[in-house]
Amino acid sequence: MQKIEKLYEGKAKVLYSTEDPNLLIQYFKDEATAFDGKKKGIIQEKGVLNNKISSRIFRYLEERGIKTHFVDMPSDREMVVKKLKIIPIEVVVRNIAAGSLSKRMGVEEGLPLKETVLEFYYKSDPLGDPMINEYHVKAFSLAEADELRRIEVSALKINKFLSEFFDERGIILVDFKLEFGSHKGEILLGDEITPDGCRLWDKETKEKMDKDRFRRDLGKVEEAYQEVLRKVME
Ligand code: ADP
Ligand code: UDP
Repeated sequence: MQKIEKLYEGKAKVLYSTEDPNLLIQYFKDEATAFDGKKKGIIQEKGVLNNKISSRIFRYLEERGIKTHFVDMPSDREMVVKKLKIIPIEVVVRNIAAGSLSKRMGVEEGLPLKETVLEFYYKSDPLGDPMINEYHVKAFSLAEADELRRIEVSALKINKFLSEFFDERGIILVDFKLEFGSHKGEILLGDEITPDGCRLWDKETKEKMDKDRFRRDLGKVEEAYQEVLRKVME
């Protein structure tokens, strides 16, 4: 499958059309950004590591009945995916308080949540992805009511499967971000599942193994992503 035309260049990936109008190629770059693009950098080989991590996770989720956009990983930086009409909502799933939730609620990072928390953010770079709720989703027609219900059910299932998957590998899944889109009338999980969009902590040491190492200048960023790849391939 060949890349034909560049359709979109984002902060971490480039999307290309292919000879099949239903399929795209996602090309994973090494560029990393944080704080709404204000912090920029390169994480060496991140594109390769994230493509491999995400492909492994999409395959695992598909085996458990979750419908994703994943089709194939033809090369180190390329993923063939089904073309989606992306629903402009970032779905954040949280098991443990961290990041913006810790700040907003005034609690220490690491506080286990009594119940899983689902949050929605309106996907808009110029607005800085503001937090929204299901009333905003309906009032602004970001998704149909039944689509939103399917997304919620799917996000909670994905959380269950991924929490188990990482736990078996000595990693705590603290929180993560999902994107969904429609394809031929179905809602599929899209984008990527990588340490760029998940908080992953070592079960024993609680060491961070995700993009917080870049955001907070903790060092050993590449090493952490490599370790996540090694563990997800176990
Ligand atoms: P951003 O747009 O936030 O800078 P990326 O660099 O990761 O992020 O760009 C990838 C873009 O592709 C995202 O906007 C994402 O919503 C979109 N996308 C992911 N999967 C698909 C898909 N299967 N079909 C169409 N668009 C997709
Ligand atoms: N996240 C993401 N993209 C975003 C915002 C958040 O992938 O635009 C992920 C982030 O990596 C973390 C989770 O969603 O795993 C929750 O992030 P949070 O709201 O705490 O925001 P942060 O403080 O990381 O900006």
